[in-house]
Amino acid sequence: MTFIETRGNDGVKPAEVTFSQAILSPSASFGGLYVPKKLPTLDFDFFKAHSNSHYKELCKALFEKFDVDIAEVDLNAALDRYDAFDDPNDPVPLKKVEDDAFVSELWHGPTRAFKDMALQPFGYILSKLAEKRKEHYLIMAATSGDTGPATLETFKNASNVKVACLYPGGGTSDVQRLQMVTEEANNEKVIGINGDFDDAQTALKSLLASDSFKAKLQESNTQLSAANSVNFGRIIFQIIYHVHSYLELVKRGEISLGETVYLVVPSGNFGNALGGYYAKKMGLPVEKILISSNINNILTDLITKGEYDLTCKSLIQTTSPAMDILKSSNVERILFDKFGSSRTKQLMDDLAENGKYKLTHEELEILREDFDATFSSDEEGKEVIAEYAKKGYIMDPHTATCFKAYKNLRKKSLKTIIYSTAEWTKFSPTVCEALGREVERDLDALKWISEKFNVPVPKMIAELFEKPIVHKTVIDKEKIEEEILKFI
Ligand SMILES: *Cc1c(COP(=O)(O)O)cnc(C)c1O
Repeated sequence: MTFIETRGNDGVKPAEVTFSQAILSPSASFGGLYVPKKLPTLDFDFFKAHSNSHYKELCKALFEKFDVDIAEVDLNAALDRYDAFDDPNDPVPLKKVEDDAFVSELWHGPTRAFKDMALQPFGYILSKLAEKRKEHYLIMAATSGDTGPATLETFKNASNVKVACLYPGGGTSDVQRLQMVTEEANNEKVIGINGDFDDAQTALKSLLASDSFKAKLQESNTQLSAANSVNFGRIIFQIIYHVHSYLELVKRGEISLGETVYLVVPSGNFGNALGGYYAKKMGLPVEKILISSNINNILTDLITKGEYDLTCKSLIQTTSPAMDILKSSNVERILFDKFGSSRTKQLMDDLAENGKYKLTHEELEILREDFDATFSSDEEGKEVIAEYAKKGYIMDPHTATCFKAYKNLRKKSLKTIIYSTAEWTKFSPTVCEALGREVERDLDALKWISEKFNVPVPKMIAELFEKPIVHKTVIDKEKIEEEILKFI
């Protein structure tokens, strides 16, 4: 399998690259992204053969279909990362919450958010590729929440990779901050920035664009790479759980093979939803993918009106911060898949020049063949959390946004898979408030919820509050470059 570019080729970069090239150098011509040249297909026999497969076996079968240039031993070792999930036999449990609604819990990995699903095996593969090529990479991340901890966790003590992670000094939950600043690994540096997430993000972007910074890195024989969700190496792992959750419904007799289902995906950068779209396109019987957002509802506008307009929006902080996103990168891969590279380039150029683009009526119809979308306010989310807590299911605020889509968007009474992207323990003060009690600190919220609703706090979260703080650096953004170079 080879990979091509969403905005066409500039005549300088190679016209096609391999999987490992797309992983190591994820930026394509004209600022585009890499996409598979042709998706493999999954037929009835494939699903039948794998209706009882272990998650890892299904991963291997899918990778075989994609035919990528990763050695089998390396893929196997990467997939062994799922053995550290709560239940190695069932790393992605599916919980029935209504007669026709099932929550697929994607957060049973080490950092309690769905980023682990892809970043855990991806981190192993990237580091292994670097080692084999005798190359050294610096992965930089700016994070407001889940990406930082998951990136640090997957690369800790990895060979040939260093990680510098920037977080806003005053802008993360206690749990998220502690997950970063207590991470003990010689190859990782966590830096707090005086400011908010935008400041951290802006600082990162200016470093990534700085030639002098790159030159200094080169002196230490280090190249820059990225582990954000535009890297196809992450996307491929996000196709698998959609197939797995579907087959789980078949296995339990909830549906028969071939019956279609709805998928509800809480979306920000659209990586999770893209995985579902690729699965559908490859042959998974999916009726529609229902996109849920918070009040940063630019995806709802795109999917219901065909408009992507940044000029009339500014980012609003919500209680589902991982979805506080206006520039949703992976939408570009959908545009490419539907409308081709020249139209994609035109739309993305419009966005860069005018802050917006608009699909034609026909294009919107085509998009809506696979997607529908809606959004929830924080208040609506809290009501959902309270409603399901009464029925015995505790969920986080990102997952809670899905239930409005589940209730309002389905046109047929089909079984529905709802993706849960974080454990409640990562956002416990919000969950606590939804359940009728206001607390300031994560620790108090964790205790109260755990006792009152009889749900466990996993060891890795409870232990965070006891661990020594390893990374104490909190600096002004002007000092970041110096700090990172010192670390390299
Ligand atoms: C990253 C994240 C999302 C958004 O996922 P995308 O693939 O970027 O759309 C949703 N919820 C949580 C908890 C996340 O960490």
